[in-house]
Amino acid sequence: MKKNIHPSYNLIKSLCSCGNVMSFFSTLNKDIHLDVCYRCHPFYTGKQRTLDKGGQIEKFNKRFSMLNKL
Ligand SMILES: [Zn+2]
Repeated sequence: MKKNIHPSYNLIKSLCSCGNVMSFFSTLNKDIHLDVCYRCHPFYTGKQRTLDKGGQIEKFNKRFSMLNKL
């Protein structure tokens, strides 16, 4: 390899929001943070993550259940 024309190749860490840490080589010179990785992505876990954490559907049903009683 020619000297001084190649970017430095470092072992970096990627930290996922699920707590999973992966190490790999990259020319990127810093650690990266991920929202999802192969451990916690629904595609790989086979589980559906519930996005409805605020209970929006429940609130909707509550609000309009009174209409049925009329
Ligand atoms: Zn993850």
